[in-house]
Parts: sequence; C-alpha cells; structure tokens
Amino acid sequence: MTGFAGISGRGNPLVVDTADTLRPPMRLNLNKRLPRRRQFLTAAVALLAVSCSRIGSTSGIPVLVATTGHIHDALQRITDGVPVEMHLLCGPGVDPHSYGATSRDVIALEGAKGIIYNGFHLEAQLGELLEGPNMAPKAWAMAGAFPKERILDWVDDGEVDPGAPHDPHIWNHLEGWGTCVRALGEHLQGLFPENAELIAENTAAYAAEIAEADQWAAERIATLPEGRRVLISGHDAFNYFAKAYGMETHAVLGVGNDPEADIRTMQEVAAICAERKVPVIFLESITDPKITQSLEENCAALGWQTRVASQPLYSDDLGEDPPFDTFLGAFRTNVDLIVTSLGGK
Ligand SMILES: [Zn+2]
Repeated sequence: MTGFAGISGRGNPLVVDTADTLRPPMRLNLNKRLPRRRQFLTAAVALLAVSCSRIGSTSGIPVLVATTGHIHDALQRITDGVPVEMHLLCGPGVDPHSYGATSRDVIALEGAKGIIYNGFHLEAQLGELLEGPNMAPKAWAMAGAFPKERILDWVDDGEVDPGAPHDPHIWNHLEGWGTCVRALGEHLQGLFPENAELIAENTAAYAAEIAEADQWAAERIATLPEGRRVLISGHDAFNYFAKAYGMETHAVLGVGNDPEADIRTMQEVAAICAERKVPVIFLESITDPKITQSLEENCAALGWQTRVASQPLYSDDLGEDPPFDTFLGAFRTNVDLIVTSLGGK
C-alpha cells in the first residue's frame, strides 16, 4: 500500500523541529538549502532527544495521527463514539507539501496505533519518516484506495515528474474520496474490531454525505455559463475538482505549491485569464496573497481587468471555525464561492 501511494523520492529527508508547536505556513522550503548530510544530522540529533522523552498517549487511549485536516475530519466522523485520541500534523493554514514534523509530532507518531496520510507525495517532507521501520507497519495512505481510473498525472511545465507521477489532491474528487473513506472505514474496523459495527455505521453515514455533496456540487456548477467554467487559483490543487465537474483550471504555483512563481507561468496564466475574460481569480488559504495580486496585475497589463475573489478557497487545509473546519463544510464553501463569483446560481 505504501509503495503504491508513493510518498518518498520527491521529498527531502526528515526535518524535525525542536519546538513543540506547529510551524506556521511555510513559503520557502528552507530544508532544500541545507546540505544533505547536515539534514540527516539535524534529524538524528532531534530523534535522539525524542527517544529520551515520554512516548505515546499518557491516558492509555489509542492515538490516531492524521497528516491533513481532510483525513482528520474523516477519522473524527468514522470513529465517533470510539475511544481514540487524534493528533493532526497540518492544521489550518499549514501547507502539507512543505511540512516537516515537529518533535511533538514524532512523539505522537511513535506512540500512535495508526497513522493515516494522503500519499501521492503530498507530504513530501515526511516520506522517509513514514516509510521508516517504526512507522511503515502502521501507516496507511488514502491514495492507496483512490480509484486507479480516476488518477491524474502530476504535471508541471508540461511534464510528468517520474518521482511523483500522480496529482495528490484527491480529496477534491468526491466520488474517489468517498471510495478512500470507505476503505479507511474497513482499515479502522481492523484496528478496532471491538467497535467494528459502530465504525461501519459511521463510515456509511459519512460516505453518504460525501456522495450527496458531490451531487449538489455538480448541480451548482452546471448553472455556470459555458464560457465561465474556468477556475484560476494560486497552486494546482483543483485538477480533480475541475475534471469531476466539467471545468478547466490553471494555477501559478504548480501541483506542489512551489515557494515562488516563475515569470513564464505567471504570464501564461495571465494570458489565459485575459483571453477567456475570466472575471474572478481565487486566492487560497495556504498560498501567498501576493501571487494572486501579481496575477491580477499581469492581467491588467494585458488589458483585462479581473478581480481577486472576496474569500480564499480551502485547498490543502481546513479552517479554524465552522463551517470551514470540516471537509464538507470547506468543500461546500468553496463551491459556493466559485459558483457565485463566476456568475452561476
Ligand atoms: Zn497542494
């Protein structure tokens, strides 16, 4: 499962923070600037410190670790009524593409009964950690259950990266994500056989809500005029969404939410925006607002006045407060914003 999900290869070695707090959203991958040897030393020293610490849940209640908010939400729904503790690595505003584990995360991972991650190289900096001998046996990837016929390529600059060939933003394909959620439910039944019946009920109810949201989104997006079905955002997180609902999508920062925009891509996206007369472009909760602002200015230079949407889209994270703090709440908010901004109903 882990091999198919393909988490390593693209990312750098493990980075461990000595701070016990989550890192703020990262714009730059500072790890790439360290010599490889020093990265390993940093990790080794931090792991040594962690190994001397108390490991695992103090209450004796099993711990489940989720890398993203989407997975955390699924775990909460599926294990409702089951005694478990949750630990989320990438909270609101945190970019999973560039996130490195803190020492607190490593403690939670070491003591966890199960680790659920996205895969397809979304968590590029966590690859070696999750595939290590202590973690791999209990790590399970949502991507491993995503329908193969729905998988999209990870394309940047017109080429597929052989080290990370699949687009990881699978939660934006609700039909496929529903399949992943059902498989997660089966996996959790195996971890908690004494609660299997409750987990099966919770999973079925949640999967039904996902299917309902999928149908609702299709109906909303169908109200968009034909020429308005163009979704332009900060990074390429909406390819599955666009494919599912008959839209096209373009972004400046690539599939991996690159730390900086390259001028050629910026100009290409601006040219599409001007040519297609796209009225609104979208900021994302995890991308730098300056990127969207720069795109708006590049459009203006081509004689087309677009505007940035009033609210950001939730791409790779969830929000702090309801309704943005659940997967379907954030998804429905995204759909509402896209449809109303582009002239649908
Ligand atoms: Zn992303």
